[in-house]
Amino acid sequence: MTLDIARIRKDFPVLEQQVYNKPLIYLDSAASSQKPLAVLKKEEQLHLQYYGNIHRGAHYMADKATLDFEAVRDQVKAFIHAGYREEIIFTKGTTESINLVAFSFGEAFIHEGDEIIVSEMEHHANIVPWQMMAARKGAQVRVLPFDDAGRLMIEKLDELINEKTRLLAVCQVANTLGTVNPVQKIIEKAHARGVKVLVDGAQAVNHLPVDVVALDADFYAFSAHKMFGPNGVGVLYGKKELLDQMPPYQGGGEMISEVSFEATTYNELPYKFEAGTPNITGVIAFGEAIAYLENLGIAAIAEHEHRLLNYATEKLMEIPGMTIYGTQPDKSGVITFNVEGIHSFDLSTMLDKMGIAVRSGRLCADTVMQHYQVSGTIRISFGVYNTQDEIDQFIAALKKLVTMLS
Ligand code: PMP
Repeated sequence: MTLDIARIRKDFPVLEQQVYNKPLIYLDSAASSQKPLAVLKKEEQLHLQYYGNIHRGAHYMADKATLDFEAVRDQVKAFIHAGYREEIIFTKGTTESINLVAFSFGEAFIHEGDEIIVSEMEHHANIVPWQMMAARKGAQVRVLPFDDAGRLMIEKLDELINEKTRLLAVCQVANTLGTVNPVQKIIEKAHARGVKVLVDGAQAVNHLPVDVVALDADFYAFSAHKMFGPNGVGVLYGKKELLDQMPPYQGGGEMISEVSFEATTYNELPYKFEAGTPNITGVIAFGEAIAYLENLGIAAIAEHEHRLLNYATEKLMEIPGMTIYGTQPDKSGVITFNVEGIHSFDLSTMLDKMGIAVRSGRLCADTVMQHYQVSGTIRISFGVYNTQDEIDQFIAALKKLVTMLS
């Protein structure tokens, strides 16, 4: 199905503005996507009509907010094809979801001398929590490398995994290279050796259909704000039998069953992992984002983004001195690059003044920068609302700047 992008853009009024007297071209959706009106209106409706604290059902508004909040849990369960609603834990983002597992799985299952594997192409959010856990438990973090084309070298897993390996953490889609990793195959290999797998789905959920049961992922983490939803909301999916064996991550209201100074008992899943008042507004509005995505269809969105990816890649390659990081073919709508002799920060600052929003710097992926021995890069990334015309304008602006700065 071909999407009507002009109509879709009407759902995102923020895009129809001028910055520095230039029409805005937003090419930073991998950092955070813009939000459709349905999401913004839901937040407003909640606050105008029935905002109340959830799970404390003392009155009409609290009850209604609770029902809406819990309905989104069911929506998320269906969206990622999880088996049980208790396996869906709301967090404040991918980062918190991974920290939760690193702490709690670490407490239950990681002992001195154990090993965990992370890939070389991870976002800092899928490296640092494991390093912190390893330091606490006396464990070791080992690295699954990628090749220069941006392909994960999964053949190395056979030698990396040993009897001390407890968990492997890998992204489904890399935020810098755009690589779509063969996570199903990786999970199969890991499980064959008794190793659990956490998949960072932050860049995947809005580009690929995700089925956590078919993947057989033990944990799957993602953020609402990269899929048209509000910021400050994330999801951790975890297999029930694992979550049941893991201790709570944070203590407080809601996560308890009974509290006394002698013996406190914990709530059942998923509430055991949801201490305190959650982002009620964000979660409820997230439901609208999922509905919006499902209505457009992930496959149709992916097809549109792929067209933009191929077109932009071809045009970028015409620019002298261009290096694109991540050239293997299985990519999502992300292009990270440098132009020889021009600093990425200078280029992004000047693009910004021309109305073009891109990301520059180390992209929260220092290990990727180290792989290519660069101090920074520029990244463009696409959302469903981007057009080929915007790519043309971006390429024209870039060519002008490259001529000026070379
Ligand atoms: N992992 C990946 C692959 C990401 O792209 C990001 C966001 N840039 C994160 C983790 C962290 O997500 P958040 O900041 O929403 O917690």
